[in-house]
Amino acid sequence: MSMPKVLLDYSAAVALLEEAAMDLRELRPNEVLAAVTHWLQAQGQTPPYCDDGLVERWRIALQSNTAHDGGQGQGRYSTGSPLELNVSTASIPFPPPPKDEFTFSDLFAGIGGFRLALQGLGGRCVFACEWNKSAKVTYFRNFGIVPYGDIKQFTGQEISDDEIDNLIPYHDILTAGFPCQPFSLAGMPARNHFGIETGLNGSQGDAFFDLMRIATVKKPRALFLENVRNIFSIDHGNTFSTIRHSIEEELGYEFHYAIIDSSAMVPQRRKRLYIVALREASNQFEFPEFANRQLPLRSILQDEVPEKYTISDKLWASHIMRSERNRARGTGFTVKVAKVEEPSPTIVARYGKDGKECLIAQEGRNPRKLTPLECARLQGFPDSFVRADSDTASYRQFGNSVPVPVIERIGQNIIKTLRKQTAVKGIAEMALSTGREDIDYLRARVLRWGRQNFNHFPWRSVKNPWHALAAEIMLQRTKADQVLPVFMGFAAKYREPADFVARPTPLFSRLGLPIRDDQFLALNRTITIVGLPNEKAKLLELPGVGDYVASAFLSLHLEKRAGLIDANTVRVYGRFFGFETDPETRRKRWLVDLAEEITPIRVFRDYNYAIIDFSREICTPRKPQHEMCPLRRKCRYLQNVVDKRR
Ligand code: SF4
Repeated sequence: MSMPKVLLDYSAAVALLEEAAMDLRELRPNEVLAAVTHWLQAQGQTPPYCDDGLVERWRIALQSNTAHDGGQGQGRYSTGSPLELNVSTASIPFPPPPKDEFTFSDLFAGIGGFRLALQGLGGRCVFACEWNKSAKVTYFRNFGIVPYGDIKQFTGQEISDDEIDNLIPYHDILTAGFPCQPFSLAGMPARNHFGIETGLNGSQGDAFFDLMRIATVKKPRALFLENVRNIFSIDHGNTFSTIRHSIEEELGYEFHYAIIDSSAMVPQRRKRLYIVALREASNQFEFPEFANRQLPLRSILQDEVPEKYTISDKLWASHIMRSERNRARGTGFTVKVAKVEEPSPTIVARYGKDGKECLIAQEGRNPRKLTPLECARLQGFPDSFVRADSDTASYRQFGNSVPVPVIERIGQNIIKTLRKQTAVKGIAEMALSTGREDIDYLRARVLRWGRQNFNHFPWRSVKNPWHALAAEIMLQRTKADQVLPVFMGFAAKYREPADFVARPTPLFSRLGLPIRDDQFLALNRTITIVGLPNEKAKLLELPGVGDYVASAFLSLHLEKRAGLIDANTVRVYGRFFGFETDPETRRKRWLVDLAEEITPIRVFRDYNYAIIDFSREICTPRKPQHEMCPLRRKCRYLQNVVDKRR
């Protein structure tokens, strides 16, 4: 008989893990809850500032506090990891989807408007970031995740690309309603008055460059951004041009944008700029068409509203006075009660202060402000969304938010496009789009292992590229210690291909591969005529140079990124991801795509050295060192084959 299942309550799990995070508390006291909650919702990953030891302690702490019968209980997280732990999601109002189709990051997350929409479409958020303390509390209450604080801790000048790559998990879609105060019409006059810079060089405008840095390193499949429409006109259009140029030219993404008024989806006129950028250019994305309708404000008004929302005689008198003065001058705001049969004007962060943007007429009384619940509805949040304790914070949070249904509609089209691209590109993309976290995990761990165990072979530091090419040819199917004396003699004797052509020696016979001696001579004859190519297509035309040697030569010696595929690397990938690795597989396009995807953008040289050494020292053909392997926690071969044999 199976044991009864015991699910640990989510908040109890958070408290338990917080308790078991002593080192982290000393190192990053403000980010302990962020790390704990991010890990709880994505247990396959090591969150920022955590290491494998801490994660292991957390796992043990949870395991020893839960008992289960191995069933698939409701409210259980699907982490994509066989190490799922039984933690109940029942207390989270908007938990992650039980099975996710894609992953996303939530930058400048606010109270989670993007998250609410994309979770509903089957997305799992793997990284959230928000500096405002009260917004973070609201976010946690609704999604069970505490966002990390200031984004600069991940993107500051002192942080290398490599560190960003390790800190932030891969995500399919990067979302950001990046700070818009420097651009907004409402915020501009005061800012200009006080000499605060506007546009991308303003203190918050450079947030755009923070998200660009993350996009450059993590290469998500899509960017989904929101901002005020005023971004078009600021600085004579230079701000928008800079954004477009950065995304299109520097990042190389296909760029789409639209100004959309939310009033077809929520009863609020809120015109915003939406940008969608796609890593794979396919011209398949289109913004959704919205119905030609305007929802009435009346549809979201509460029947009974507490008296405290009725504005005071003093405030009403001051509104009227300012309106009359402004009318006489022909500028500025004039107060008027809202027409409830039409959408409301745009709700802004400061709405709660005096409600002047949208006052509701009341029979025999001064008009009233909208309630926080009504503001939530104007942005498309469900009534079950847990609001901040104070009205002031609620007004500010909803005023700063994105209209959720608009995000959802655009999100649907992004997902459709990504699905189409996946179908077009075939099985590799399918493997990639469902295994991004695993790719991230493998890349980070192999890279770290490689740096700690780097082998200083002489061919890794040669200055002569021809020597380097010769070494890569020798290393094919031959062990490094066998190559070492042959290579040293060769490099000492020959300085250029013409030397070798004039006085050839049978190098490869000494390595047990006599057939290659003729090939190597032919290769050198060709190089003396055409020179040493620095492009893959030309390298592949040389006698005896195949895909692996060309890619290794380019990435290890010429600083050109290329993924490596040979029997050794494919063995590691096959074992880790759980696919067959017969010679036929190695010719498949999707495997090439997979290797390209795993290889980091900037530190590809380090990674390629790491995977070469790792495949020869840890994940060896006959006696893989499972116990010492940094990939063991997620390795399919270990879980599906080795562990079952034990
Ligand atoms: S756990 Fe074993 S099989 Fe899996 S990658 Fe590591 S060494 Fe290879």
